[in-house]
Amino acid sequence: MAPAMTLAVVGSVAFDAVQTPFGERERMLGGSATHFSLAASFYTGVRIVGVVGDDFGPAEVAVLEARGVDTEDLERVAGRTFFWRGRYDYDVNVAHTLDTQLNVFAEFQPKPSPASRDAETLFLGNIQPGLQAAVRRECTGATLAGIDSMKLWIDTQREALLEAIATVDAVLLNDAEVRSLTREPNTVVAARKLSDLGPRFVVVKRGEYGAALFSEHGFFAIPGYPLETVVDPTGAGDSFAGGFFGYLDGHGQDLSDGSLRRAMAVGSVMASFNVEGFGTERVAALTEAEIRERFQAFRAMMNVAELELDADLR
Ligand code: AMP
Repeated sequence: MAPAMTLAVVGSVAFDAVQTPFGERERMLGGSATHFSLAASFYTGVRIVGVVGDDFGPAEVAVLEARGVDTEDLERVAGRTFFWRGRYDYDVNVAHTLDTQLNVFAEFQPKPSPASRDAETLFLGNIQPGLQAAVRRECTGATLAGIDSMKLWIDTQREALLEAIATVDAVLLNDAEVRSLTREPNTVVAARKLSDLGPRFVVVKRGEYGAALFSEHGFFAIPGYPLETVVDPTGAGDSFAGGFFGYLDGHGQDLSDGSLRRAMAVGSVMASFNVEGFGTERVAALTEAEIRERFQAFRAMMNVAELELDADLR
C-alpha cells in the first residue's frame, strides 16, 4: 500500500447567507477552505488552516471532524467569524455579493503547525495573495501546491497574486478570473500566460459547463455533470478543487495525463454534489457509493466511439 499522504488547505472558514431562486438560508457553514476540505476528505487526509470567531461552535467543528478533517490549525480568536451574503439569479454561474464582513478574517495570519507544514500537498484557497505566498514559503514539505483566488484580489492586488502564482504548481481559476488576471480574452492564450509564470498546469473552471485543463500533456476538457436539481452553487469551485487535489494527493501525486483527467472528473463530480444542497449539507452527508455511482454515469456520458472514417464522414 502507498504511504498515507496529507493535504493542507488554507482559506476562509465562514458563515454564509444565501438566496437562490430555489430557496434561502440565513446562516450556514461555508468558506473556501470548508468546502474544499469536505470534498477532499473522501480521497485523502486533510488538515484545515483557518480562523474562526467565538460564534463558531462545536456543531460546525463537528461537520469537519465527522469527515475526518483535522482541525488542529483552525485558530479560534475573540470576535465573529467571517460572514458572506450572496444571491444567485437563474444564471447560477454568477454570484452577486451583497455583504462581506471580514470580522476575525481581517487580521488572519495563517499559522500552519509542523504537521501542516509537512503536508505533501498544499492548497492555497482564496485569501490575500501575500498570505498565500507566505504560507507557500512556510509549507516546505509540499511537493505539490495549488492556488485559487477571486475577482477582489485580481482587481486590487494583481501583482502580488501573479507573484504567488509563480510559486505554485497548479492554478485553478474560473474563466472570467483567468481572462481578467492575464488581460487576455482568449482562455487558451490566457492559460499559457499563467503557465509561463511557472505552474505546471492550469485548470479553468467554467461553472455548470465544467472545466478545462492545460498541462504539459496538452488540453483536456470535462463537462459539468448534468443535474436537474441545482439548489445552491456556493462552494462549487472549492468542491471541484477539493476533489481534484484530494484525488491527486490520495494517489501519490501522480501527474500523468490519465491521473490528471481522473482528477478533473472527480472535481466535476464533487462540485455536482455540492450544488444539490445548501452550503455543505449535501457533501457532508455524501457516501462513497453515491460518488462511485455518479462517477460511472459521468464516465459513460463522455464516451465517444471512434469515427469510422469511410462510413461516418460523408
Ligand atoms: P465558491 O467556490 O467560489 O462558490 O466560494 C464560495 C465561498 O467563498 C463561500 O462559502 C464564502 O464564504 C467564500 N467567500 C466569499 N467571499 C470571500 C472573500 N472575500 N474571501 C474569502 N472567502 C470568501
